[in-house]
Amino acid sequence: MAEDQLQSFLNRCREHGLKITPQRTAIYEMLCGSRKHPTAEHIYAEIRNSYPNISFDTVNRTLKTFAEIGLTGVVEGHGGPRRYDPNLESHHHIHCVRCREIFDFQSDELDNLEIPPEIKQEYRILNKRVVLNAVCRRCRRRSHIKKQRQKKGASNEQD
Ligand SMILES: [Zn+2]
Ligand SMILES: [Zn+2]
Repeated sequence: MAEDQLQSFLNRCREHGLKITPQRTAIYEMLCGSRKHPTAEHIYAEIRNSYPNISFDTVNRTLKTFAEIGLTGVVEGHGGPRRYDPNLESHHHIHCVRCREIFDFQSDELDNLEIPPEIKQEYRILNKRVVLNAVCRRCRRRSHIKKQRQKKGASNEQD
């Protein structure tokens, strides 16, 4: 974890009266090191390598607290267990509907997307994010290979 990232973690914990423990620091470090928008389960599975006695409940609660005090974002609804997003910069998401991976992408154009005035009148917009539902490259390749195999299988049967 970068020095300034660690520093802002420590500051934020102090501001909110959250005791800084090695476990909490490790959970935060793991979260920041992951590009996968991890669930509590993911973090729990990883952290047990270093802290075998930690409970799932502790990890789960710690992540919820991190979200409450603004140390991490939470991924918008996707029908699965809650996923965390340590990337607090403005960015957009691609959800792969097959493997459930979530990819970050940047776009100035989308950042500057104009909100219709009637919506602006009625709501105070806090942030905006564009979410694309898609099939990622890896899954596309996988289904392509599968199709080819099926085709081959079918033609073999005909022979
Ligand atoms: Zn995929
Ligand atoms: Zn993200």
